[in-house]
Amino acid sequence: MTPDALSSAHQNRGVRVEAPEKGASGTRPRLQDAMPVNRRQSLGQGDLDFPPIPNGVDYLRSVVDHLDEATGVKPRDIKYAVLHLQAAAEVLLKARLFREHWSLVFKDPGKATTKTLADHSFESCTTAAAVERLRNIARISVSDQDVKALKALADDRNALQHFGLTHNARAVEARAAVVLDFLVRFLDEELLPHLADEEVREITQDMERTRGGLTTIQSFVTKRMNRLRGNALKGQDGSTTLCPSCGQFALILAAGGGRCHFCSTGWSSGALAEHFQSDWGTEQCECPACGAWTLADLVDFVSPEIAELHYCLECAARFPAGTLGACNGCGVPWPYPEHEAAQVLCDHCQRDIRAQELH
Ligand SMILES: [Zn+2]
Ligand SMILES: [Zn+2]
Ligand SMILES: [Zn+2]
Repeated sequence: MTPDALSSAHQNRGVRVEAPEKGASGTRPRLQDAMPVNRRQSLGQGDLDFPPIPNGVDYLRSVVDHLDEATGVKPRDIKYAVLHLQAAAEVLLKARLFREHWSLVFKDPGKATTKTLADHSFESCTTAAAVERLRNIARISVSDQDVKALKALADDRNALQHFGLTHNARAVEARAAVVLDFLVRFLDEELLPHLADEEVREITQDMERTRGGLTTIQSFVTKRMNRLRGNALKGQDGSTTLCPSCGQFALILAAGGGRCHFCSTGWSSGALAEHFQSDWGTEQCECPACGAWTLADLVDFVSPEIAELHYCLECAARFPAGTLGACNGCGVPWPYPEHEAAQVLCDHCQRDIRAQELH
C-alpha cells in the first residue's frame, strides 16, 4: 500500500468505505490487503494477486466441480469441497464486511489500525463473527437456517483438519447445497452489483458453472428426498426431524437415539442432545420420565401439529406444550403436579426440602 493509500485509508476511518471504484482501487484499502498474511501465503505465491471476489467465485466453482456426480465423488473430492466451500464463505463474507468498513474484518475492530491492515499482521474475524457483524452492523438478513449451515461447514472444516473426514458424501453434498445456495444469492445481492463491468465479465464463466453445478446438486438432494418420502419416511412425520449432519428432514428418532435415512448417520441420544438442547446448561435437561439428561426442547418434527414439545432423546417421552412448568426450587422444566394448588417441584428439590424438614 502506498503512503497515499495509507493516508486516504486513515481519512476514511469511521467513514463508510465503498467498494473500490474504477481506477480508484489503489487509493483505498482493499480486501486483498486485509487478508492476513498466513491466509495469503496459504493460497500460494502465484495466487497473491487474486482479488477477493473472483477468488471466492473460483473456490465455489471448485466446489461444484468436486461434487459433480457425473465424474464421481470420491473421498478426496469431499475433502476439497469442504475446504474450498469454507474458503469461499470466508472470502465472500469478508468482502462484504470490508465494504461496510475495513476495520470489521479484524478479529477485534477496536484494535484495527491502517498499519496492521497494510502489513497484514492482524488476526481476522471468524466466519461466525463475520455473519454476526453482517447481520447486526450491515443489516443483511441471513436466515437462521443459513447461519446453521455456515456454522456446520466451519465445524466440518475444523474436524477435517484435525480428524479427517467425519461425514459421508451425501451429508456433505446436502449441506454444501445450502451454503452454495446462500453464497450465490449473497453474491447476486450484495457483491456483484458493486463490481465494475470488467470485473463481472471476468467471473461470468465461473458463476455460470457454479449456478449450473448448484442446480445439479440441489436436484440430486430433492430427488433423493422425494424417494425417501415415498418409502422409508412414509408415515413417520411424527418421529422425523432435521438431521444435524445433512440438514435434511430425514432423521427418525426412537428410544436411545435415531438414524438418518438421507445420510445414514446413526445417532446416540447423547450425541443428539448436543444439537437439540438450548444452551440452558446440562443440569436443566433431566427427563422427568427416565432421569437421563437428554430432555430436548428444540426438536422440530415434520408433523406440523407437534409444536413446542419437550422430547426425551433417550426414552422418547413426549411432553406437549403446557404439560411442563418451571420447578419453583430450581427452575428446570417439570410436570405440573396433579393437585392444582400444589407448586411445581422437581424430584431433587422435593428431596432437598424433605431433608431440610428432617433437620
Ligand atoms: Zn442426515
Ligand atoms: Zn427420558
Ligand atoms: Zn427443582
